[in-house]
Amino acid sequence: MQKVTCPSCGAPVDFKSHASVMAVCGYCKSTLFKDADSVRDMGKMSAVLEDYSPLQVGTSGSFGGQEFSVVGRIQLRYDAGLWNEWHVLYADGRAAWLSESGGQYTLTEETEARAELPRFDKIRIGATYGILGMLCTAADVRTAQCTGGEGELPFQVGAGWQARVADLRSGRSFVTLDYSEGEAPKLYAGQAVTLEQLKCQLLRDDDIVKDSAAKYTRKVEALACPSCGGSLNWVPGVTRQIVCPSCRSQVDTTADVATVMAAGERMDRLKTTLELGAKATISGRVYQVIGAMQRRDDEGEEWTEYQLYSPRAGFLWLIETAEGWQRAKVQDEWPVWNRSETVKLGSLTFRKLYEYEATVVSAVGAFNWQVRAGDTAQVTEFEAGKNRLAAEQTVDELSWSWSTPVGSDQMRAWFGIAVPDAALAPKADIMKVTEYFLYGIAGFNFIPLTTAFDDTWHYSALAAAAIWLPAKIISLMQD
Ligand SMILES: [Zn+2]
Ligand SMILES: [Zn+2]
Repeated sequence: MQKVTCPSCGAPVDFKSHASVMAVCGYCKSTLFKDADSVRDMGKMSAVLEDYSPLQVGTSGSFGGQEFSVVGRIQLRYDAGLWNEWHVLYADGRAAWLSESGGQYTLTEETEARAELPRFDKIRIGATYGILGMLCTAADVRTAQCTGGEGELPFQVGAGWQARVADLRSGRSFVTLDYSEGEAPKLYAGQAVTLEQLKCQLLRDDDIVKDSAAKYTRKVEALACPSCGGSLNWVPGVTRQIVCPSCRSQVDTTADVATVMAAGERMDRLKTTLELGAKATISGRVYQVIGAMQRRDDEGEEWTEYQLYSPRAGFLWLIETAEGWQRAKVQDEWPVWNRSETVKLGSLTFRKLYEYEATVVSAVGAFNWQVRAGDTAQVTEFEAGKNRLAAEQTVDELSWSWSTPVGSDQMRAWFGIAVPDAALAPKADIMKVTEYFLYGIAGFNFIPLTTAFDDTWHYSALAAAAIWLPAKIISLMQD
């Protein structure tokens, strides 16, 4: 540990790691640059945006039997949102990065590349690359701006600093190629982790905890719509966009003040079976419906996806199709897929089922990424018994999710009486059923109708009307 005095305000500033070259003064936010024995003031660093992260400089934990503490962070912004790179220091002096994005975490360390690495502009989403003896799939490629920093950092960053990174995955392993300093990337390798797994302890000063205890437990909170003033539910820190249920404006929540994006552009109205804010108890944890999105495949088939959030367990998806309900979770563990007809994950072999393009028709509520009507993704679904694996790919991102069917009685058990029975049952198209029934009546009465038309037709017509009318009424009520 090296103690220095801030040249700007005189406050004591610690350098816990000898490898750290810069630190942001906790009092005046001056950027201090350490070179040899002197410390220079490099000007003010933009303060980090309050994103309600459960982590902070000072948080400690352990991984692989080693204690660590969080000593700094940089905050980065890209097209679809914001993420944090927490600078972590192990007890033995090694440094690592704990990356936090949309409620998911990875822990990586700088590693020596043993072979040549791909160039930034040559990386294709979904393609596989041999890195450190693993077959890694490119998961996302992005260019991001550093928007703020705090604590101590191993390299010099400042306003306008740009990060060019590619993330790749194999099983639970995670690799980041960082091209920020040039064409030859730095290689960071590690794995997907959870805060529980890291046994994180949030060490805060008692005063701060008292001040912000409510603020720092992530829960669904209310925010006034900047367009109509209506109440919006969101999860501070993980919600990136809200589509207002009242005026359908698209609200960006990644800046200090929530603003309306794309003024004038409004989402179509979306009517959903599960209402925004509906609560469910799933596996002993309380989830809340925070967003709903209607999508359509290339054959015109439509379905609804609900995003649910639990402060303790993160995100979960419920998918409502004509066949019924499914529960889905984004995968931290990735299969290797070479575009073949099967894919293996754990002990299961999944067979390819469908391949289609999914387009967003409409959305409402809060999301942890930016949703736009017309956004498309290439979806490939695989099946193993009742389990489904789906790969969803866009130009700059690939994700895997695992889904299982959910019966309407299970939905009832999760949501209680908040959702009407009729809404939970799969919607068989009653007008289609009625149509077949009417053909049936016409068929049965075909001979009497042709031989004794005058005597028979009004009975048949009456029977047909008796079936068609109630069906029409039910169908109108369903809509
Ligand atoms: Zn200072
Ligand atoms: Zn509004």
